[in-house]
Amino acid sequence: MTGAKVWAADLGQVDPQDIWRKDRDHFVHPWTHFDSFKQDGSLVMDRAEGAYVTDISGKRYLDGIGGLWCVNAGYGRKEIVEAIAAQAMRMPFYNPFVDTTNVPAAELSAKLASLAPGDLNKVFYTCGGSTANDTAVRIAHYYHARRGKKSKMHVISRIDAYHGSTYLTGSITGRPGDRSPYLNFLDGWIHHVSSPNFYRSEKARQEDMSEAEFCDHLVQELEDKILEIGADNVACFFAEPIMGAGGVIVPPPGYHARTLEVCKRHDVLYISDEVVTAFGRLGHFFASKDVFGIEPDMIVTAKGLTSGYQPLGACIFSDRIYDAMSAPDPDGWFTNGYTYSGHPVACAAALANIALMERDDICGHVRKMGPYLEKKLNELLDLPIVGQVRGKHFMMCVENVADKATREHLPDAANIGKRISDHCERLGLIVRPLGALNVISPPLTLTEPQIDELVGILRKGIEAAMQDLR
Ligand code: PLP
Repeated sequence: MTGAKVWAADLGQVDPQDIWRKDRDHFVHPWTHFDSFKQDGSLVMDRAEGAYVTDISGKRYLDGIGGLWCVNAGYGRKEIVEAIAAQAMRMPFYNPFVDTTNVPAAELSAKLASLAPGDLNKVFYTCGGSTANDTAVRIAHYYHARRGKKSKMHVISRIDAYHGSTYLTGSITGRPGDRSPYLNFLDGWIHHVSSPNFYRSEKARQEDMSEAEFCDHLVQELEDKILEIGADNVACFFAEPIMGAGGVIVPPPGYHARTLEVCKRHDVLYISDEVVTAFGRLGHFFASKDVFGIEPDMIVTAKGLTSGYQPLGACIFSDRIYDAMSAPDPDGWFTNGYTYSGHPVACAAALANIALMERDDICGHVRKMGPYLEKKLNELLDLPIVGQVRGKHFMMCVENVADKATREHLPDAANIGKRISDHCERLGLIVRPLGALNVISPPLTLTEPQIDELVGILRKGIEAAMQDLR
């Protein structure tokens, strides 16, 4: 990084080196590896347009991860920026507690109710995905208790799931690598059943299961788990339609419909965590119904709701749940909520985002270009270390292996995902490393030439990493 000063919006002239140092010395980043961070600090991103981000030294990258699975409409969308500015000028904030509201929150709630499947007509707003999942559990508990089923407290989630980073949602998360022995987790009333990862299932492999048999096994396992805990004790089941941060895991066909069926049978609420999959990433506003054919009891979303222009999460739930929880409560009340629930500026951003997604038919674009991205990424299977390309439309990943036939892992020391991401970064593409995987979740506006550019650089990044390992 040079010592020359650069122009940063609203800050005037800044020295990139000085910014880099201030960040390293004072900004404690989420999910960082302190050892390398203390040494290397951060890549300082400074501006963005369309599908590209530019760092503070002026180097431009194709953003293959859409910020963090969230900048769905792409960068530099004037309509969203103007809506944010107009609302901030008119009224930046007023509290949503008890019985005050604001125009964008009311409008957005009605809009979300019209987009969400079935009778999911009620919306509770939060500051992001973690707090929305946290809220979903509180709603589930309150709902059951108000129906006289106070013991229904236990939560079932899945290995490899990611549901957030609050104390509660960190515990519902099931990614094995997240369980630091130095942090506490809420165990005892949170349970994890198997990951729906057919490619990596030891059991499926040992028992030579077909994918359909694997699905039978998973459905049975969920039902057995409910019976083991006792259906009278189980509040809800969490599932991402396609697991994201756990490794872009697409469940076997029929999995969601059949697990929902099990939940219904045992009066267990089915919570679909669509923090990543909603708002066009899979070609529809919500994937639960339009991709997987289910109407869950609650949908949790965030990220693409505002395309990342403002922090906002939402728990969208059924009239049936609302009716039970809103009946007069002689013993107390639903004590859940945030200062910034239904924040007017964030809701205005979401409304503008949805309006432009509808106007430009971004979901239609994803349905058209998604298969092309899948096809181009699948061409990488000719490389000796690419074991599997998986995902759907604009939610994809490449899994790197030592041996394609046996699916043997590369040694940890190869640090393959990070190694590939570093090469891609050097070549002008951001892809996210997740262990041995590289995740691709670009803005949904990507054109055919941009997809070719993305896959072309990724191929070079993988080849460079293979060269390193020789
Ligand atoms: N749920 C899923 C499926 C996610 O992918 C994430 C974040 O990546 C979250 C919840 C947490 O959202 P947030 O980081 O906005 O709290």
